[in-house]
Amino acid sequence: MNQQHYLIVGAGLSGICVAEQLMSKNQRVSIIDSNENKSSIVAAGLINPLVFRRMAKSWRVDELLPYAQDFYRKLEQKTAQEFYHEIVIRRFFSSEQERGFWEKKQTEDEYLDYMFPLTEEDKNYSEFNLKNDYGSARVKQSAWVNASVFLSEMHEELKAICTFFSEKFDYSLLDTEKAVYKGIAYDGIIFCEGYMAQFNPWFGDLPIQSTKGEVLTIHSTDLPMNESINRKCFVLPISSSTYKVGSTYKWETPDTIPTEEGKQELIDHFHYLSDIEPKILEHDAGIRPTTLDRRPIIGRHELFPKLSIFNGMGAKGYLIAPLLSKEFADYLVDDQPLLREIDIQRIKKNSSQ
Ligand SMILES: Cc1cc2nc3c(=O)[nH]c(=O)nc-3n(C[C@H](O)[C@H](O)[C@H](O)COP(=O)(O)OP(=O)(O)OC[C@H]3O[C@@H](n4cnc5c(N)ncnc54)[C@H](O)[C@@H]3O)c2cc1C
Repeated sequence: MNQQHYLIVGAGLSGICVAEQLMSKNQRVSIIDSNENKSSIVAAGLINPLVFRRMAKSWRVDELLPYAQDFYRKLEQKTAQEFYHEIVIRRFFSSEQERGFWEKKQTEDEYLDYMFPLTEEDKNYSEFNLKNDYGSARVKQSAWVNASVFLSEMHEELKAICTFFSEKFDYSLLDTEKAVYKGIAYDGIIFCEGYMAQFNPWFGDLPIQSTKGEVLTIHSTDLPMNESINRKCFVLPISSSTYKVGSTYKWETPDTIPTEEGKQELIDHFHYLSDIEPKILEHDAGIRPTTLDRRPIIGRHELFPKLSIFNGMGAKGYLIAPLLSKEFADYLVDDQPLLREIDIQRIKKNSSQ
């Protein structure tokens, strides 16, 4: 295989996944990151194969989930660190109707891998005095990635094997035709900038939205440690008596400042599950790179084919980025076509600067 040299701009979840996939194809990788990571690090890293709102399977989950499980497990071995943790999600239904949807789907073949059949115990679950108005049910194969461990371990790993520039990419210094940046000629420049893609002169007009999310870290001895509970919000145990509670969604909000309003919303949502007053340890905010059609945006620039983008991972980045980055590497290195629904080509508008 011909070895090419790629410069990846951004070392959040997307940049890390793309770097791993290219290196696994024996490609040379350099990375530049401004360390303004406001999504990957704030994320709870939950991997939920279901979408509760519609009580449906998550997009492409049958392919994405086994690939992600294997991907994180291999990286754990490589770094000798644990960051991928299986955990059951217990959904507390918000209505009789929602429970009915679950009861109907739990026996369908395509849901058997993701839904534990409802038991009397689930219906009447009353541990920790949690509020159980309509019954609860448990999700199979759910997990969470400890984002801070994952990111710090992967940054260490990448710094050891690639050239890693800890600085901001200066757009004005790029020769777009030849992909020469600061005197080095690359075979490709890959932008994995998350919501900051909006400032990119070549990809800035793509419909990537800034969807702000806030999350709390709380202390409690009155909540389950072996399950992540969910209704209106998630409560995820991350270490002894410590939980993340999230997340809010605020569209088109490009700031990362935690707000009183966001905090209150999370506490109000938490009270759908429990009456306890949580002790708040931390309050963070980040920005998800989301898209209008809820699909990532991946591919080469129309006019400058040495420039490409991997972005729009949305609210489920930790589930989807592993396999999508493989498909992207197959496209870059082996000329494999991208699926239409993730391909930048579906959006017929590139800035031409
Ligand atoms: C509150 C919250 C909760 C979430 N919870 C979950 C969850 O439970 N499960 C899940 O799967 N997903 C979750 N997400 C979504 C997930 O975080 C995103 O899908 C994913 O992290 C996006 O990663 P990214 O690498 O594309 O972007 P980012 O994490 O934003 O990374 C972009 C990187 O590029 C760098 N960069 C940008 N521009 C430049 C430049 N010009 N020069 C150099 N570097 C640059 C930045 O410094 C940053 O490090 C959550 C997000 C938020 C905000």
